[in-house]
Amino acid sequence: MPIYEYNCPKCKSSFELLRSMNESNAEARCPVCNTPSNKALSRFACYTKDNSGVSSSVGGSGCSGCSASNCGSCGH
Ligand SMILES: [Zn+2]
Repeated sequence: MPIYEYNCPKCKSSFELLRSMNESNAEARCPVCNTPSNKALSRFACYTKDNSGVSSSVGGSGCSGCSASNCGSCGH
């Protein structure tokens, strides 16, 4: 099940929700201020960290879960 990341437009906090694909477009409210928040990105098999602790999920070498060249196009 994918983890979706959200950014609250009000308090600028980020949070993650584990949701099914069917729920991916449902409203997510900030746990801090209860403001409906925007989905920032989703990550599933795409999410990796290198030894420096920097996320390489954006602009990385591609998704391990499919043949797409990046996670933005494969929907993971
Ligand atoms: Zn908030």
